[in-house]
Amino acid sequence: MWQLRACKRENNIPAGVFRTWVERYVITGEGVLVESPNGALEGFAEINEEIEASAIDAFTVPKMCNHCQDPPCVQVCPVGATFRTPENFVLIDSEHCLGCAYCVQACPYGARFINPEKHKSDKCTWCYHRIVRGKLPACVAVCPTRTRLFGDLKDPEAEVTKVFEENKWLLLKPAMHTGAHCFYVGLRREVV
Ligand code: SF4
Repeated sequence: MWQLRACKRENNIPAGVFRTWVERYVITGEGVLVESPNGALEGFAEINEEIEASAIDAFTVPKMCNHCQDPPCVQVCPVGATFRTPENFVLIDSEHCLGCAYCVQACPYGARFINPEKHKSDKCTWCYHRIVRGKLPACVAVCPTRTRLFGDLKDPEAEVTKVFEENKWLLLKPAMHTGAHCFYVGLRREVV
């Protein structure tokens, strides 16, 4: 959970909302149950002791904004307050955001929320303010197992490029054709 704490500290995110979060998937004989601190999407469950006892398997999956190539959130903003940069960061102009939450509804990944203090749309920026200073996103910088990597796939020497080319990876919800830019190595089919 260091990554979540690092994100909250770095970006001053209030309690109860998340720019990045970790979901727990529990497989039972009856199907797949998902527990998430960001339980904004349908199908999430509270996993109690009884479910734990009947679990066949369990694993966790980190989630965040996918910084999509064709982002539904950008398409629905009535004032153009959210946009994609040429480097594929999807950002929010808080000065112009109305807080209408159309983008929150449009995101198929549950990645956006209305910041309860600022009353504006909020989400992961991949720590854009750090990237422009040559630093890594806070969650990547603190990850003790280097589970999270960040980099430019156009750079053949980048570690992220080598991992991308040498492993099988999957996207979340590929049928949505959002052009997601978070690539998951070893992602279980139950999650996709
Ligand atoms: Fe927008 Fe959601 Fe895609 Fe992020 S993951 S760019 S919030 S649609």
